[in-house]
Amino acid sequence: MNSPVADTVPTVTDETSAQASTHGTAPASPPGRSVLVTGGNRGIGLAIARALAADGDRVAVTYRSGEPPEGLLGVRCDVTDPESVEAAFTEVEEKQGPVEVLVANAGITRDQLMMRMSEEDFADVVQTNLAGSWRVAKRASKGMLRLRRGRVVFISSVVGLLGSAGQSNYAASKAGLVGLARSLARELGSRGITFNVVAPGFVETDMTAELGEDLQKTYKSQIPLGRFCSVDEVARVVRFVAGDDAAYVTGAVIPVDGGLGMGH
Ligand code: NDP
Repeated sequence: MNSPVADTVPTVTDETSAQASTHGTAPASPPGRSVLVTGGNRGIGLAIARALAADGDRVAVTYRSGEPPEGLLGVRCDVTDPESVEAAFTEVEEKQGPVEVLVANAGITRDQLMMRMSEEDFADVVQTNLAGSWRVAKRASKGMLRLRRGRVVFISSVVGLLGSAGQSNYAASKAGLVGLARSLARELGSRGITFNVVAPGFVETDMTAELGEDLQKTYKSQIPLGRFCSVDEVARVVRFVAGDDAAYVTGAVIPVDGGLGMGH
């Protein structure tokens, strides 16, 4: 089967790619990479942004309202809106250079049993979590193709492969990220761009803190490690997969779930 990609991906030759193919290993990234984390103004995304900034990367985060976090470049962006995505990338490119590391983290839930779930709640979740991730990956790939390197990390969920009653929209969107990452890994691997999925389990966030004590106990009893995950534990795995040590990892689904989804 002929690949539809060969004709559509721009051809760029530079010294970096020549080195990579000659030696069979990817060259180390120059320090101070330009990073964009969607939904990096709070929660897991903010922990990821802070971890990468601590390593010396120049990190931008998207936010929709309020103020962006201190010390990071905040760019307004709604991932469901192509024009907003374009404007955000243009701003990041102007202020810190083309995005070399993209963490597609923005996500929402609209939980409801299927029989009661509205068309809107299904579409909103898929449009944000899956189509939004595709949209930002597509835009980021433009610059990465020119650089002939790049790291894209999609933040999925254990629920994507395990399933969860009342979360058919969310689980479908998060499972979709696996097919998305693996397809893009095949399309753009030869250009030095990796696409991976990080799939957290229960993470200590405002959402999980609001669960009643009994419910928290029940959930924890199902997790082999017996506890919820901290946002920093997710961030450390993302930092690894976005770093030079993971240069040969692509199309992978990396669970950070205390063993909850083992085998899925
Ligand atoms: P939060 O609800 O704390 O934050 C979600 C982030 O996504 C916010 O920054 C929010 O921006 C942003 N966002 C939502 N919709 C859009 C949009 N249309 N355009 C741009 N940004 C948007 O989530 P968490 O930190 O808990 O989760 C982060 C990711 O991790 C999500 O993808 C989630 O599905 C996933 N995850 C979370 C788990 C958990 O236990 N918390 C477990 C497994 C996966 P704003 O502030 O403007 O609303």
